Amino acid sequence: MLVVGAGIAGLLAAGELQRAGLTVRVIDKGRGVGGRLATRRIGDAIFDHGAPCLDLQGGRLPERWWRERLGPARTEWWPATADSGSEVPCRWRGAPTMAAAAKHLAQGLEVFSETALTALRTEGSRWIASTSSGTVFPAEAVVLTLPAPQSLALLDAGAVDLSPDLRGRLAAIEYHRCLAVMVVLNEPSSRIPFPGGLAPTSGPLAWVSDNQAKGISPVPAVTLHATAAFSLEHWDRDRTETGLLLIEAAREWIGPGIREFQVHGWRYSRPRISDESPCMVACQRPPLVLAGDAFGPGGIEGAALSGLAAARAIVQTTSG
Ligand SMILES: Cc1cc2nc3c(=O)[nH]c(=O)nc-3n(C[C@H](O)[C@H](O)[C@H](O)COP(=O)(O)OP(=O)(O)OC[C@H]3O[C@@H](n4cnc5c(N)ncnc54)[C@H](O)[C@@H]3O)c2cc1C
Repeated sequence: MLVVGAGIAGLLAAGELQRAGLTVRVIDKGRGVGGRLATRRIGDAIFDHGAPCLDLQGGRLPERWWRERLGPARTEWWPATADSGSEVPCRWRGAPTMAAAAKHLAQGLEVFSETALTALRTEGSRWIASTSSGTVFPAEAVVLTLPAPQSLALLDAGAVDLSPDLRGRLAAIEYHRCLAVMVVLNEPSSRIPFPGGLAPTSGPLAWVSDNQAKGISPVPAVTLHATAAFSLEHWDRDRTETGLLLIEAAREWIGPGIREFQVHGWRYSRPRISDESPCMVACQRPPLVLAGDAFGPGGIEGAALSGLAAARAIVQTTSG
């Protein structure tokens, strides 16, 4: 079995398939695992610059389930007693970082990093996956967990035959973009309320988090997430200028002392239009299942549910 993408959907799908006794390999184009559960360093500063927390708000997977899966790689960030000043329910976070939560899920899995899927085709009763590293992966079944527009582009490039209905559903999926600024400060930011995050209600910022107060960065380090509207409007503009605009918008919380900053653009941050089904069986024989946060309720929880649904679909198809 081949799972493409080592975000939360792919890692949970791979874990379930392995638990079902199947041999699984995971490939990801990134240097590490996690996808949008992402952490970056600038010198000594450490930033969660993708999803800021394990937003499990929907409660569709029981608390005990998450505790078992993530073990020590999950910790409470937002005590129930803290005044969030916003509606963002960031109770849990990765420990120590969001990327660490993904690394925990990857334990025991065979993961090939820096290995991008470049083409997928069938040969008899199996899939042949070509990758950027030159390695070719034959597989009895494939789970694709890339953001849906990327999966569709790959399938089209490989001339994989999708029914018009499935193709139409995939083509309808759209994502918001998000510009993230990682700012190293000279002094700790004292104006971001405990426990280190706030969601501004107006202006270009959707989220401000203090990675030092959060407990992941030994030095002052703040992540700024722009709103979807601002990110779309400024996507093609100069990233340094855009970063400075967002820093200016955050002055009241971060103060004047900026040491350095970097900007990261998430072309696919959260789905704007998603598909209702938990996953999509694009091909029965050999099985090809599409999963990820574009399927079902979205977000981290939706991606998790989608990965689990994809694994179930593969097990059913292969055992049938
Ligand atoms: C800034 C930001 C803030 C967010 N905030 C929240 C929040 O508050 N609450 C919430 O629930 N969710 C939030 N999210 C969304 C959440 O992070 C995602 O819904 C979830 O992590 C998606 O998981 P996934 O496995 O579906 O996709 P991903 O994590 O994107 O995983 C897909 C993987 O596929 C890999 N890949 C792509 N192309 C290829 C290829 N050709 N070959 C091999 N591998 C490939 C990528 O490297 C990636 O690792 C946020 C996301 C961002 C970016």
